Formats: sequence, C-alpha cells, structure tokens
Amino acid sequence: MQSSKGYAALAAESPLAPHAFSRRDPGPTEVTIDILYCGVCHSDLHMARNEWGNSVYPMVPGHEIVGRVSAAGSAVTKFKAGDLAAVGVIVDSCRHCAPCHRGEEHFCTEGATLTYAAKDRVDGSTTMGGYASNYVVDERFAHTVPENLDLAAVAPLLCAGITTFSPLLHWNVGPGKKVGIVGLGGLGHMALKFAHSFGAHVVQFTTNPRKRDDATRLGANEVIVSTDASQMKAHDRSFDFILDAVSAPHNLNDYLPLLKQDATLTLVGLPPEPPTISPFNLIRGRISVAGSMIGGMPETQSMLDYCGEHNIVSEVEVIPIQKINEAYARMLKQDVKYRFVIDMSTL
Ligand code: NAP
Ligand code: ZN
Ligand code: ZN
Repeated sequence: MQSSKGYAALAAESPLAPHAFSRRDPGPTEVTIDILYCGVCHSDLHMARNEWGNSVYPMVPGHEIVGRVSAAGSAVTKFKAGDLAAVGVIVDSCRHCAPCHRGEEHFCTEGATLTYAAKDRVDGSTTMGGYASNYVVDERFAHTVPENLDLAAVAPLLCAGITTFSPLLHWNVGPGKKVGIVGLGGLGHMALKFAHSFGAHVVQFTTNPRKRDDATRLGANEVIVSTDASQMKAHDRSFDFILDAVSAPHNLNDYLPLLKQDATLTLVGLPPEPPTISPFNLIRGRISVAGSMIGGMPETQSMLDYCGEHNIVSEVEVIPIQKINEAYARMLKQDVKYRFVIDMSTL
C-alpha cells in the first residue's frame, strides 16, 4: 500500500476538507501517477453534494487528472517512470463486452468504473479521485499527454474536452454546418473551441451578456443571449445541431424550435431534475433529442493528440486546493473562466 492525501467531502452538506487514505501498489499492468493538476468539473459538485442521489462518503472528487508516472508495473508498455500521464472519468471496465472491444469502455454493458465514488474492480475498495496526491490505474485507462501543451490547461480536456469532442464528431459537426453551444462554462467553452476548429459556423448561447466578448474570442461566429426572445426567434429553424452543456434546469423548449428539420439537440449537461419537452417541438420537424457521455479510451487519446496538433487547451484559473470550496461557490454563480484547475503541489 502507498499513502495518499487529498481533499474529501465527508457528507453532502459539509465542505471539502483534508483527508488521508491509502492506495494499492500498482499491479503488473498498472501505474502510479503523481498528480500535478486536477480540473474541477461541475459533476464533482453534483456528486460531492449528492445531487444525483448516488454518492458515497468520504468522497475524494476529481476526474481531470494530469501527472507524472512515479512507478510502473512489470508488464506496462505505454509508460515508464517520469512520463506524463492523464486520467479522465473512468478507470476500468469489464474489458470483454462488445463496447469494451470496440474501445467504447464508457458504454461497458457491465458498467464502467468511475474514477471516484465507485467500486474498484481490482480490490473492492471505493475509488478515490484526483483531488489527491496520486492515482493508481491500469495503463489502458491512462493516456499519453502531448509535450507541447500547458499541463494545467490540459487537465480539463480529460472530461470537459472529451465530453464535447465526442458528440461533435458523432453528429458530423464541420464546414457548412450551423452549430449551437448552450452554456459557456467548462464543457461549453471546450465545445466552442472544438466546433470552431472543426470548421462549423458556431453560435454560442449564454444567459450572461458579459460573456459575449469571451465567446467571440474563443471562436463564436455569433453570440445569443438566451433570455432575449427576439434574438432567439431570429434563429428559428436554422441549426443543424445544438449541444447543451448546462448544469442547471432550463427550458429546452426555447431551443428545439431553432433546429432545422431532422436536426438533433444533444444533452451533455446533467441537471438533477429531468427536463420537460413539448412533443409538438419534436414532431414539427422530426427533431431528435439525444445524450452523450464522455468518450472511450481510443477517442480520448485521439482528442488529446488532436489538441496537441492544433494547440487547443482549456481556459483555466489555477487555484490552490485550499480554495476548492470557494471555487464550488463561484461555479454555482456561473463565475468560472472557464475551468478551475487545482495545482496539486499546494496540497
Ligand atoms: P459549469 O462550468 O458550471 O458550466 C455550466 C454552464 O451552464 C454555466 O457556465 C452557464 O452558462 C450555464 N448555466 C448554469 N446555470 C444555469 C441556469 N440556471 N440557467 C441557464 N444556464 C445555466 O459546468 P460544467 O463543468 O461545464 O458541466 C456542465 C454539466 O455537464 C454539468 O451538469 C455536468 O455534471 C455535466 N457533465 C456531463 C458529462 C457527460 O459525460 N455527459 C461530463 C461532464 C460534465 P452561461 O453563463 O453561459 O449561461
Ligand atoms: Zn466531469
Ligand atoms: Zn465492458
């Protein structure tokens, strides 16, 4: 066993606080990663506060992990001690079902193992996430990191990045397509960067008019303040695809009329309450509402490689771990530009 320290939620109502625990030594195909940076995802907040109803405590959140390998098992081929490595939202899966064989481990029919607050397939313990000094993971679920990118700004790619990259590719976002991104937060700003990079005409929806200049700088061709009905109406039936990355309840019926015939609105945001959808907004143009969750291991690696080639990273505000509760409070006020990342040397 090796000792680890981090910050944990001890109950849904309590702030995160220092927490000591242990991790196993790496098995033959596993590595220990000493964590340098960990991004702060809104899912961490939903989970720490038990907003989805499935939390277990103590919980060390964090699934946007970048660090250096400090130990590698004897059969590890992808990494050696000293290499950079990154870990995202899942750390294991059954590895033998059809989705696992396809490299879609996140859709594992037996259920993928989440990076924190899940039952570890190897030793039965509860997984502890990346707001911590280290992580132990099978090399299949760790990724290599392009050397040319700022490491703090790479961390959010492991969740916010892949969660937006994957659906944009799946729904063929590219040149000639008009694409909407709803919510300019951690996921939204990565969606904006990727959709712009893929060559689409990108329209950013935001509730906050003060984000207009940033949206433009990050690649938006147009910015719509979603509370302004006339701005919304002007885009009636014009979108090929809309990606919704909003963390709180909001009215999807404001967005569905903006889609062209046969177009899709895909949800990646996960507000605790289910949305209400008027079927009239679907039947009038054979409209689809879909969902998407992170991405498999091969796609996550190709996303990181794409970011290395195109120099794409997250916009980050680096914080010491002691400011994590303040960061959560600011995230709830939509005051994030555009991802908090914890500098783990402050632990
Ligand atoms: P975030 O950084 O807090 O951004 C959320 C954005 O949603 C805000 O910046 C805001 O954008 C908008 N928003 C917030 N409250 C709103 C409200 N009451 N009405 C309308 N808009 C509101 O969160 P995030 O880390 O990007 O995560 C977004 C969601 O995706 C969370 O629910 C998270 O759990 C989920 N998620 C899903 C996956 C997946 O695999 N599907 C992966 C990661 C995260 P504006 O200020 O521009 O309006
Ligand atoms: Zn996340
Ligand atoms: Zn599987």
